[in-house]
Amino acid sequence: MHPHDQTIFALSSGPLPSAIAIVRLSGSHAGTALQSFAGKMPAARMATHALLRDGNGQPIDDAVVLWFPGPASATGEDVAELHVHGSRAVVAAVFSDLSAMPQMRTAEPGEFTRRAFENGKIDLTEAEGLDDLIHADTDRQRQQALRQLKGLLGDKARRWRDQIIEASALIEAGIDFADEGDVPTELMAPALSRIGQLLVEIESVLSAQGRAERLRDGLTVVIAGPPNAGKSTLMNQLVRREVAIVSPHAGTTRDIIEVQLDLDGYPVTVIDTAGIRETDDPVEQEGVRRARDRAARADLVLWLSDDDRAGVERQGDAPVWLVRNKIDRGPDGPEGVTPSRTESPVLRISARTGTGMVELLEALVSFARDYFGSIESGLITRERQRQLLQQTAEALRRSLAAIDLGEEVMAEELRIAALALGRLLGRVDVEDLLDVIFRQFCIGK
Ligand code: GDP
Repeated sequence: MHPHDQTIFALSSGPLPSAIAIVRLSGSHAGTALQSFAGKMPAARMATHALLRDGNGQPIDDAVVLWFPGPASATGEDVAELHVHGSRAVVAAVFSDLSAMPQMRTAEPGEFTRRAFENGKIDLTEAEGLDDLIHADTDRQRQQALRQLKGLLGDKARRWRDQIIEASALIEAGIDFADEGDVPTELMAPALSRIGQLLVEIESVLSAQGRAERLRDGLTVVIAGPPNAGKSTLMNQLVRREVAIVSPHAGTTRDIIEVQLDLDGYPVTVIDTAGIRETDDPVEQEGVRRARDRAARADLVLWLSDDDRAGVERQGDAPVWLVRNKIDRGPDGPEGVTPSRTESPVLRISARTGTGMVELLEALVSFARDYFGSIESGLITRERQRQLLQQTAEALRRSLAAIDLGEEVMAEELRIAALALGRLLGRVDVEDLLDVIFRQFCIGK
């Protein structure tokens, strides 16, 4: 049986108990199931009050139901939603009834979205945007994911692909003239200029890349410095501030290895190198290994010291800010002395009392702002997308370079370019990828 002959269902809302739970169904039996629960078919796309009953006619719950007949639905199939009270017992009763219905099964993670994709409702970049939107922690991540969900990259890729196919048609039309000598310039010239323009556009999107990818993953700041400089105290100070903690991750019960901050919408992970230590606990070892990995690729190092003469140990290429801690103790060296190997700026804080924390956080926000730059132009959020756009650009470049090699070679390179864009959109050759992409989704999505 084709998997799509089966109707899928899942809890599409959050963990139970909750005020309301949404059970979503998609597939050709969604309507039958809805009718059997509600006793009648509600009007399409109208929230309708209904008393749900089980197979024996016993009431389950007072609910609101929605009916979205395909193909004008989110998945392109018949979709029904049951908005029930969010109790475990209610949802269990609904699930038990659904499971007993023929050709009905629980959905795999991301299966609703996958069906939407397979039915042509969304392209692959939009599916990726949807996944990012669900996992967005900060406002800027949300905005970026929404741009992608709205298909900005997909729209561009589709337009590029059409233009490549047009250019290739012009060139291939020329192949028929080949016997009579060169392709007429009135065919070749517009094709070449179109390819040239496309290349410029794709390259500009590629050059704005990276930042958008980083916004998805966040910026990494490492706190380093000599023992007892106050690194752990600073971490605790960050956790205590309400500024924007998304989640602290503890290495041991005592030490926090990393905190995730939402700084003015920019996701920033701060890692304490003091928390990175040898341990026998395998779970902790994994945390330590990851923290060390991330620290090695830090975007900024805060070098904490409790005296003005501390030497900075560079780690990688990241800029280093010297942060002078324990200023509540008063200067223990000559005030205002510029340390010998300082890298600007010098920030002065007391991790214990919190003095200077506002300034430190402000400096981090402006660092993040500069770092991400004009994120609006960033359309690429994933390595997969970047690679395919690069392949497109390379093939276009080869096509232009092949002008002396003949139209067949040019047309072949254009075909490769169009194919890469087709992959970006999920149109061709992506079967193996789909499992990987959709498996990361939530169940019920
Ligand atoms: P780490 O080894 O760099 O993680 O340093 P800790 O955070 O464990 O701090 C070492 C010692 O310095 C502890 O006794 C802290 O209480 C103290 N300390 C940390 N920050 C400050 C500060 O701003 N002022 C003062 N007076 N003491 C601090």
